[in-house]
Amino acid sequence: MSRYLESVCKLCRREKEKLFLKGERCVSNCALDKKRGKNGPGQHGASKSKMSDYAKHLREKQKARRVYGLTEQQFHHYYEVAEKMKGSTGDNLLRLLELRLDNVVYRLGFAPSKKAARQIVNHGNILVNEKKIDVPRYQVKAGDIITVPEKYKDNSILKKLVEKTSSNVPAWLSFDKTKISGTVISEPLPGETSHPIDSQLIVEYYSK
Ligand code: SF4
Repeated sequence: MSRYLESVCKLCRREKEKLFLKGERCVSNCALDKKRGKNGPGQHGASKSKMSDYAKHLREKQKARRVYGLTEQQFHHYYEVAEKMKGSTGDNLLRLLELRLDNVVYRLGFAPSKKAARQIVNHGNILVNEKKIDVPRYQVKAGDIITVPEKYKDNSILKKLVEKTSSNVPAWLSFDKTKISGTVISEPLPGETSHPIDSQLIVEYYSK
């Protein structure tokens, strides 16, 4: 399946919650904050019928996939890796997703959305331990230092973004505003993901 190219707001309406896929606009001008945007996509809005268990599991999987901007195939691959790891498959899955380099770049505030974070990584503007890494799926680990090349530190958009960062950085990351650099302190706990996701529903979806 190819990447989704239509309006991403439609995805939020489909999941009936804000997935924060558009950066600043999600805070200042979100259709879901207005009454007219609360229905699902389509002329008649969301169905009022009760959701089946299968639909609940499917929707949680779709929500997680959309939050991290992954194709069906990519998401399923993460699930397979998580399943082979020791411990809870659901927790492993969320940890793997959260430790993607594009997600960490977003959570450090270097980009306004995960999509923008992916582009910044793809364009070679992110360094991990002083080495350029242009692979968004790259898995960071505790102790890694994530920063931008010197020439990019003067970028006015980046400066504005990181100005807001320090108050929003999760406990498993630290951020040095003067150096525009972040450190992975530890692996994220299940409750420390960028968006609340019930990983157990996803495990049940794939276990059927
Ligand atoms: Fe659109 Fe962002 Fe609102 Fe989602 S949260 S509907 S992406 S503006």
